[in-house]
Order: sequence, then C-alpha cells, then structure tokens
Amino acid sequence: TKWVYSFGDGKAEGGRAMRDLLGGKGANLAEMASLGLPVPPGFTISTDVCTYFYQNDRTYPADLEGAVEAALAQVEQTVGARFGDPAKPLLVSVRSGARVSMPGMMDTVLNLGLNDETAAGLAQQSGDERFAWDSYRRFIQMYADVVMGVDHYLFEEAIEIHKEGKNADLDTDLDADDWKQLVEAFKKIVADNHDRPFPQDPKDQLWGAIGAVFGSWQIDRARTYRRLHNIPEEWGTAVNVQAMVFGNMGETSATGVAFTRNPSTGEREVYGEFLVNAQGEDVVAGIRTPQPLSREAAEAAGPGSDKPSMEEVMPGVYGQLLDVFEKLETHYRDMQDIEFTVQEGKLWMLQTRAGKRTAKAALRIAVNMAHEGLITETEAVTRVEPSQLDQLLHPTLDPAAPRDVLTKGLPASPGAASGQVVFTADEAEEKAKQGENVILVRVETSPEDIHGMAAARGILTSRGGMTSHAAVVARGMGRCCVSGAGSLHIDIKTRTITCNGRTLKAGDLVTLDGTTGEVMVGEVPTLKPELSGDFSTLMQWADRSRKLKVRANTDTPGDTQTAREFGAEGIGLCRTEHMFFEADRIIAVRQMILARDADGRRAALEKLRPMQRGDFVELFRIMAGLPVTIRLLDPPLHEFLPHEEQEFADVAEAMGVEPESLRWRAKELEEFNPMLGHRGCRLAVTYPEIYEMQTRAIIEAALEVAQESGQTVVPEIMIPLVFGDKELASIRKRVEAVAQEVIAASGHKLDYLIGTMIELPRACLQAGSIADHADFFSFGTNDLTQTTLGISRDDASRFLPAYVEQGLLAYDPFVSMDRAGVGELVKIAAERGRATKPDIKLGICGEHGGDPQSVAFCHRQGLDYVSCSAYRVPIARLAAAQAAL
Ligand code: PEP
Ligand code: MG
Repeated sequence: TKWVYSFGDGKAEGGRAMRDLLGGKGANLAEMASLGLPVPPGFTISTDVCTYFYQNDRTYPADLEGAVEAALAQVEQTVGARFGDPAKPLLVSVRSGARVSMPGMMDTVLNLGLNDETAAGLAQQSGDERFAWDSYRRFIQMYADVVMGVDHYLFEEAIEIHKEGKNADLDTDLDADDWKQLVEAFKKIVADNHDRPFPQDPKDQLWGAIGAVFGSWQIDRARTYRRLHNIPEEWGTAVNVQAMVFGNMGETSATGVAFTRNPSTGEREVYGEFLVNAQGEDVVAGIRTPQPLSREAAEAAGPGSDKPSMEEVMPGVYGQLLDVFEKLETHYRDMQDIEFTVQEGKLWMLQTRAGKRTAKAALRIAVNMAHEGLITETEAVTRVEPSQLDQLLHPTLDPAAPRDVLTKGLPASPGAASGQVVFTADEAEEKAKQGENVILVRVETSPEDIHGMAAARGILTSRGGMTSHAAVVARGMGRCCVSGAGSLHIDIKTRTITCNGRTLKAGDLVTLDGTTGEVMVGEVPTLKPELSGDFSTLMQWADRSRKLKVRANTDTPGDTQTAREFGAEGIGLCRTEHMFFEADRIIAVRQMILARDADGRRAALEKLRPMQRGDFVELFRIMAGLPVTIRLLDPPLHEFLPHEEQEFADVAEAMGVEPESLRWRAKELEEFNPMLGHRGCRLAVTYPEIYEMQTRAIIEAALEVAQESGQTVVPEIMIPLVFGDKELASIRKRVEAVAQEVIAASGHKLDYLIGTMIELPRACLQAGSIADHADFFSFGTNDLTQTTLGISRDDASRFLPAYVEQGLLAYDPFVSMDRAGVGELVKIAAERGRATKPDIKLGICGEHGGDPQSVAFCHRQGLDYVSCSAYRVPIARLAAAQAAL
C-alpha cells in the first residue's frame, strides 16, 4: 500500500480527486502544486493510515517509517535544507486534514524541527536572533500543549512573569535574549510537568506530532463537530507535513486568508484579511484584528481607519494574489477560501478549498457563475444546499422599528436574532434546552465553544475579524454573528458587558443584526423576507428539472398566501382541526363533543358549518384553481376537552345545562393513549355527523368559489388514519352521498376527489384493497413513523437524541424519513396501490415532505408530490430538482 503522497515544485502524486484518501487539505495542496502555484513542498500521510492506526491499537503500518523518510528527503532536496541541520535547518508544519474541513477542531504543530542547535542555526541563517528564539519558544509551547499535554497556561504565565520582571507591557517589548531565557524556562516547565523532557531530536518531534494529529481525530470537540455535521467516524484524518514558510520575518512578511468572492453577499470582490509580520494561526485565532486586502475595503471601513490595505502595503504581492484567485476560480469553478503566507516578499499558498458561504452568497455565486459561463445553469442548481435556504426564508429586522443601538461590530454572518445574553457555551446549551433564545457573548470563540454556538440564536464577539473562528463557523451554521465589536468590555467574572457607559448583565435581552453588525439592547420586531432576484432565478432553473410537484401544509389564509409566494403548487394538507381551536369556535366544538347524542352534536355542528365554509372559501380563492386537499377531522376528541372551571361554565351556558353534567361527560371521554385512541376516521365511525358537516362545508365553498371566479375548483377530501378497505368504503359512501346531494341542490357541476392518508403499517400492507376506494393516497409519515417504530412523536425528544449520539440511529426518524422501515412501507404501499389503480395519485404530507433526503426518496419512488410547511416549500423545490439531476 502507498501510504505517503508527495507534492511541491510544480508536481504532485495526488490531486483533488483523491480527497477521501488525502483529506481536503492534502488533495488541494497537491492540486495547487500541479497547477504550478507556489506551494511549499511537503507530503500527505493518507487517511488509510488513520484507519490502520485506530484498528491496530494506535500503531502504524511497518513500512510507513521508510515512506515518510523518503518523502522527507525529497522535501529536503527541494528546499535545499536538512532536517536537524544546524547550518541550514528544514522546519515543517504538521497539520490535520479530513475529507471535509473541520475548522480548528484537530491539532496543528508549527516550526517543527527546532531544537537548541537548529534554533541557533536559524538565527544565523535569517540574521534575526529574535525571530529565531521567538519561533523556538512558540514551537515548544505548541508542541508541549498538543503532543505532550502540558497546559498552555503555564507558558503564558512564564511570559507574564518575565515581562513583569522587565517592566515590559507587550510581547514586542521582549528581545532575542528574553526569548532565549524563556526557551530555557519553557524546557524546564516541560520537564517539571511531563515524564520526558522536551525532545531535541527532530525525528522524535515529527513522529510525536504525527501521532498527536491522528490522535486528535478522537478528541471531544472533534467528535462533537462530527456529530453536528454528520461526518462519519470511519473517515479519519490525513496528516500533512509541509516545509514552513514564515510570515513573521519582518515588515515584508505577512500571513492572511482570503475568499475569491464575498462569502456573506456573494459579490465578486476581493475579500480577505492579512497581518504583517505574523504567523499562520494569528489571523484565524482573532488575537490581533487584521487589515483588509483591498484598498476599497480599507476605505469602506471608514475614515480614520489606521489599517492600510495589502494593496497599499504590498502592491506586487497583492497583484500576484489576484492572479492566483483567477487561476483557482477557473480551475475549481467555485468560490475558494484561501490561506497564504508572504515570506520576505514572496507569496506562498498554504490552502485552498471551496469556501463556506451564507445562503444569500451561495445563490448569488451560483447565479453569477452561470451568467459568467463558468458553470451551467443546471450545475448552478446543484451548488446551493437546499436546507441552507432556510436562512433566507426567515424574517429579518423591521427597518422601521426603533432600535436602541448599543454598538456596532463586523457583519460577520447575516440574519437577525434576539435573545438573552449568556457568557459560556455550556450556559447557552443549557438555556436553549429549556427553550430560551440565547445570544452567546464571547471575547472570541474557539473550537471548544462549538456546542454553544449551535445552541445559540446568535453570536457576538468583541474581538476577531470577518474570518475569525466565530465568523466562519457561524456562517457555516447559518447563525447570525456580529464579531469584533471592540467597544464591548466583556467581564466573564461579573457576567456583565459594559459599553459606552451602559451595563448589561447575563439574561438581559439583546438583538443582533448580522447584516449590518449592529448590536441592540432589547428585542427588535422582524419582517417577512424579501425574496431576491437570485432566489427566483435559481428556483426557476430548479423548477425546470424537477419531476415532483411541491404543495404546502397550510390551514390559515396567511400561511397559504406565503406558501403561494414561495411557489407552492397546491395545498397537500389542510388540517381542519386547527380551525376548531379558534377562540370564537372552541365553545361550539366542545358543545359538539360533549353532546349526549347525535341531535345535540348536529345542533353544535350547524353553528360551525358556516365558519368552516368561510375558511375553505378563502383557501380556494388564494389557491386559485390549484389542488387543495382538505383532511377531515383527525385529532383525538380528548384534545378538545375543557380543563378550566371557566371553560366548563362557558360550554354549559351555551348548551343550557349544568357544568357538573359536562364534567362527567368529559371524564368519560378521557383516554389513556389518545394518539392510538378515538381519533381519525374512527371519529366518523362513531359520530358520522362530523364528516358530513365538513363535507358539506367543503363542497359549498368549492361551488361558491368556482362560480365567482369561473375557475375549476377540484377539492380533494382526505380521510385520515384508515387501516383497511372496509373502513374507507363505509366512510366514503357517506361523504359521497352528502357531496352529491349538495352538488345536485346547487344545479351546477363539480368534480371532487376522495382519498385517504396512509399513516398506519396495516394501511401500507392493505394498500391494494384500500386503493379500490381511494382516488389518492397521501403518506402521513409523522404517524407512520410513530406507529412503525412504536415511538411516540410527542415524547421522542426525551430519548431519541441519545440514540443518535450512541449511533443506534443515524438520524432522527421524525426529521428525515427512516428509509429502512417507514421507507419500505411507503414503497410497498405505493406498489400495491398502483397495482390496483395504476394512475392513483400519490403524495406525502408528513414533516418529511420538507426534508431534502426524504424528498429525494419520494422522487425515487415516483410520487406525484410532496407537501410541507410553507417556509420549507423552496427547500423542497430545490431538493426535488437536485434529486432529478
Ligand atoms: C402525518 O401523520 O404525517 C400527518 C401529516 O398528519 P398529522 O401530523 O396531522 O398527524
Ligand atoms: Mg397523522
């Protein structure tokens, strides 16, 4: 087996197609080297070694050592320096790199190869004593922390003590001698806190670092990140060993990160930051606030900005960088996220990868690249993650609402969020679990905060730029984020924020606007989203490809209107019970339920009928001839029962009876297991009057709208929770009789469909005979999941997360359809239904109708449509298109 792949000097053994084996970073370093871009030479130890490592008790394949030696020799030759050579030492970085980027989650070691001798050699060679000893102490610190597990803090403390002794304020006040003394102190710290001294042999150092990087695949934060992003355990990480280049060799050196397009807006502009005389991680860590790349961005930062751009400071290198952008974009045909270093005026590329972006940017980039001819329109459709659209479809801050602006930071990740101030990731997670909206406030975030960032509605930091950890991670998660709000003074001890003479404490409400960077005190109202030109362009392209129709689950005029605006092609599920809960109706509904007999029920239902008819008229009007599926009453009657004294009194008065007699009746109606109780079509078996009233209301409304508009209105009447053909046949007969009667009385014609929900395992198995009586099936996968897995949909959240965490389930089956169980049943039902009635209309209206993976499944089964909540209609449209491509 080949374990090690070399790159550099215009050639490489790997390439971008080998991402699984080399990890994203390694594959792209190889690709850039082959493209002739300036990449420091190095090699990648493959993810196969990681797999071997974990399968063999953390040991390596026997022939790995030789392969690493050979690859290292090649690097030495290319660079013209030797590992451990005091006269001209080769220094390397050792970094992780999984198949997909896991920013900051795993370990990195820089400046490896320094020891007492080579540090002296580096000083002589670079002519910069201070640089050499500073690099050496950084290396000891990093290596001791990452490889040997010696606390970072001990080293920071030693520096502080040394500074105090010298009366120095800043690290930059320390000279070569100071760092030299600190190197000795650091070595002593290692010796005192570890059973081995700091290793002087560069080969020992290298193997230590390789082991640490492979080991970091299993540290807590990496595992959490994988769980949050569904990254399989088995992938493993590769290790990249690469010749060091130095961004901290004085004023002609720098380090930076850049995106080839703006990752927030998608605009084609130079976007990035750099730091003069700094080393790699300084930019991403957010410790010093970096400078913009382009002059334009520097000017936009406002007058009085004392941060000159790279365009001004290093015009030559800036020009080269723009050429590299161009080359990478044409080659990869996607927006790239780049890391680079400038060593004494020479540009080096350290990384490129497809850049994370907001939904807005994803749309803009996909549409623009198609217009530029870089990709096709069809490819553009595949470039936007359907679930990401969620970010765009939710409300933004009402610009007309008053804002009590506390301060302004950088607009690091768009969107708006209000919530209580919390200061730690754990607190964010805890409060979010209790259902609170929280804003996580940190000086800066680190990979340890990842669970809190996921739990928070928004993230606010006082330090760090647009490419800081907080900004990058928030954009990836679609969380709104304001970073680098420098005027905030965050005091973790007292749990307060002071800013411009005001003080906020933990629990106070704040609002973030991630699009402007504003931080506001209190909660600010929000507005419906403006659907931009890019959105509708991409959705049109998507609509050309998809086979599935997309409908919406709505029951109010407002949601139905929104659904239409989002492109719904009908209503797939109108849950009529939602209309029953309205304040002016609930008394009549309770009167109906608590009635002693059919006459009592009829009297109450007659009160409800005009209201129901009015509801349906509105829906038919908004849907203007598109199909509208109305489900007859489904929930257990239990759910409508009164609880409070006053509620009983109100119903008793309406019925002209004593409250006491109602309480008796309510007791009778209580159920132990209502979801498996008196609900769905069972209501019609016992109380046929209910469905008769609803059918009458539907048909009357359809006739009314058909006449006033001249449009064809074809209502689809849907019977829930059926388990067999006899049940459906008997209910269908009654529904049909009422429908015929109303139509005949009107003197007009009206077509209508009668179908059923398929939401019980028995119904799936009996679909062949059920189809005899159904014009359509709509899979109710919420109940079907509940009844197939035997897991209560209302109680699952107590234990399902543990199933997912322990790998017993790959995902929550109420979110994404359980293909192995529920999916199989859907397949069987579709086959058997079609065998009876080849042209039977098939759809899905469970929550899964808006989940991209489940939509893809429905496409494969050849369903006619999916139906989901209004806000997820665009997600389903895009997912349906991608499934068809
Ligand atoms: C279902 O069960 O999937 C469904 C759509 O019905 P409800 O969620 O109303 O039970
Ligand atoms: Mg259901």
